[in-house]
Amino acid sequence: MSQPSRMRVALVLPELLGTYGDRGNATVLVQRLRWRGIDAEMIEVSGDTPVPADCDIYVIGGGEDIAQLAAVRWLHLHPGLQRAVARGAVVLAVCAGFQILGTSFAGTDGAMHPGLGLFDVVTRPLSRRAIGEIVVEPAPGLGIRSLTGFENHGGATQLGPGAAPLGRVVTGIGNGFDGVEGAVQGRIVGTYLHGPVLARNPDLADLLLTWAVGHPLAPLVLEETEALRHERLRRTASR
Ligand code: GLN
Repeated sequence: MSQPSRMRVALVLPELLGTYGDRGNATVLVQRLRWRGIDAEMIEVSGDTPVPADCDIYVIGGGEDIAQLAAVRWLHLHPGLQRAVARGAVVLAVCAGFQILGTSFAGTDGAMHPGLGLFDVVTRPLSRRAIGEIVVEPAPGLGIRSLTGFENHGGATQLGPGAAPLGRVVTGIGNGFDGVEGAVQGRIVGTYLHGPVLARNPDLADLLLTWAVGHPLAPLVLEETEALRHERLRRTASR
């Protein structure tokens, strides 16, 4: 996709899916574009407006099981996100957002519910809820540094052949299968990392932005973010 004059970042259903400040992911994307002199705006998509299909990046966060079910029902009825993915839009989906983009996921009742089918993943209940700090070594092809985040989920997500892991778990649980975390399928990234993940991991933010603008971006190093990143990696390693 050629770079449009104004980049549009859609924040999808933040009232339902936005635990642990996941809306911050959209703020980080917009801000990192603006700091580089690229015009960008955030489009907040709540339940009273259809999901626009023409944004460049879509961000969807985590949420409780009931909110997750309400969100997926609504997204099935208003398929703007699905249309955007078909046109090659970039998507970041966190935790419940990750689960509902899959083929199916387990609800609180243990029953399986149909997801949006954008990711070749299936989520079933984990034997024990995963809660705590997590460190992930990203898949080498992504060219980004170790990721840190906070996970809190009861779902275990198994990747099918269409999805590749985002990375390998160093500390924590992640997907709960095969020692891997998250998924990458085309230009869609799913992860269990809250934080918000893009505030903690600017490399991941810039990877998504590079896909969306279609060319490499000028480096943007924020000393404070780097210091916090190193501190979190050090603390998690010393546990
Ligand atoms: N409800 C989902 C689970 O517990 C997702 C939780 C979340 O988004 N933090 O697995």
